[in-house]
Amino acid sequence: MRTDREIRQMPPKKSSSPDPRALQFELPFFSREETPRSAPPAPGLFQRLFHRQPEIQPATPPAVPPVLRNPEPAAPPADGTKRRRIALEQRELDYVLRRSRRRSIGFVIDERGLTVSAPKWITIGQIEDAVREKQHWIFAKIAEMGERRALVPGVRWEDGGILPYLGATITMRIAHGSSARGETVRLDIESNELHIALPPSASAQQLKDRVQGWMQAEARRLFLERLQVYGERLGVHHRVLRLSSATTRWGSCSADGKILLNWRLVHFPMSSIDYVVAHELAHLKEMNHGPRFWQTVADLLPGFESARAHLKHPPPELLPKF
Ligand SMILES: [Zn+2]
Repeated sequence: MRTDREIRQMPPKKSSSPDPRALQFELPFFSREETPRSAPPAPGLFQRLFHRQPEIQPATPPAVPPVLRNPEPAAPPADGTKRRRIALEQRELDYVLRRSRRRSIGFVIDERGLTVSAPKWITIGQIEDAVREKQHWIFAKIAEMGERRALVPGVRWEDGGILPYLGATITMRIAHGSSARGETVRLDIESNELHIALPPSASAQQLKDRVQGWMQAEARRLFLERLQVYGERLGVHHRVLRLSSATTRWGSCSADGKILLNWRLVHFPMSSIDYVVAHELAHLKEMNHGPRFWQTVADLLPGFESARAHLKHPPPELLPKF
């Protein structure tokens, strides 16, 4: 089954032809809930609450994947969607209306709220009736999203503060002055303590910068190591590794061998990192999410499905705010 579906044709550079290498395949953070494409078509208008997006949308940009930590309103949609407001029993509800070629009305709730997809021939009145009919479900899902956001913990940037690292937690220990080995940040794997050398006057921001710098360096080191391991197994070579801190995707790969990986993967277990690495490397063989692509991932990383599911619905404590 194909589950990743984000395919984006990068906009062509001005005054030159589109770069053929710019086709990117992205691994979004969180998938919207959806029913598989193979599900039989629903007889009724409202039977299928969730729908897949088309796999390739050459004419319009894809839906922006939901963002976990930034609930601010998204930029105004540029793809023919409209923001609308409807008065319901409990309160007014804003939603995005997307006209599509689908044959039924679909509802998607994500961190940004409600998106309704409907065919062009359905009237606003019919759409509003459908929203009204589903309003209890819609409000329940929106509340769930809010609870999930509230669970995302902040980090205490002080001695004793804890951080997720490779699926476990490490405790920050501030040492005034530099360590014997001259390193400013050092992980003690026996005690799971991260020793950070800082002057007594250092601020929380300085601690955060120091630790984030260490985490990013760790991310690069680990990613390169795994890219080497899986690249050799697959017989492919990435050309460039860049770290990203995108809020919407774990990784991407372009046809010219440039791989972007999100440094925040270092919060996750090694199995998650391996999955994203294997996924992006597999794109160097198969620039799509077709059956052969998934077979390549499976050959490279048997049992990858659980790591993939873990990344799609990560426990909130693995994505701390900072
Ligand atoms: Zn992909």
